[in-house]
Amino acid sequence: MSESRAELLTRLERAAQQIRRDVFRALRAGGGGHVGGSCSAADILSALYFHRMRVRPQEPEWPDRDRFVLSKGHANAALGAVLAQAGFIDPAILDRFYHFDSPFGMHPDIKMAGIEMCTGALGHGLAIATGMALGARMQKQAFHTFVMIGDGELHEGSNWEAALAASHYRLANLTAIIDFNKIAQSGRLTELVGLDPMADKWRAFGWEVREIDGHDMGAVVDALDSLPFHGERPSAIVAHTVKGKGVSFAEDTYLWHSNNVTDEVYARAMAELGAR
Ligand SMILES: [Mg+2]
Repeated sequence: MSESRAELLTRLERAAQQIRRDVFRALRAGGGGHVGGSCSAADILSALYFHRMRVRPQEPEWPDRDRFVLSKGHANAALGAVLAQAGFIDPAILDRFYHFDSPFGMHPDIKMAGIEMCTGALGHGLAIATGMALGARMQKQAFHTFVMIGDGELHEGSNWEAALAASHYRLANLTAIIDFNKIAQSGRLTELVGLDPMADKWRAFGWEVREIDGHDMGAVVDALDSLPFHGERPSAIVAHTVKGKGVSFAEDTYLWHSNNVTDEVYARAMAELGAR
């Protein structure tokens, strides 16, 4: 029997909460790390890996797989969590986050199955994804390339060079997802360097844009199901999100961009995230 829309959304929402729980599991194992940007990205990662992307966890190098680049590499705890839940890696690796000699570090490393690129030096992922998408066209491969970019990361000028190139080459096989949580490492974007009007900036660079609530699973699914938004332009999903989403003490504050995750913090987070 095929899955109803309500069943689909419930399944993806549950998977997103599992990502958040596993983020805290990993960060406790590592002593701390990037809570805020991992939790803001969780719903989108769930919809990508458990609904939209064509991947084979048992064959991570499958040539026709869709590509995902986490440009905001500091959210690697969330990427590891989704890769574990999808079956790319042994979930036991969550307990080795940031440990010496572990492939699961503070930023993505291609030594871990399912990770396409080492990122976290910010401002590189969009250019890398643009190259992947252009390469797919040149080699007549049908896969789609997704890149998730942090909003604070958009202060890096290299993003805008890549945005120009992607639209110049009419890369309809490329989608950028902006995790627009309005907060960067050291404060609110409006107090640092403002980025509004975000969607208009992407349109001006030749992208086809859709704005969504990045925590409304129905909206996330609808946007991903509508790709590409235009037959000759790259697509941008401007996802309005809340930094630290799902854990009240971490929501909407730069103080939880990165912080210590003690046993007490872990217990408080699990109480809110519905640990079983
Ligand atoms: Mg941010």
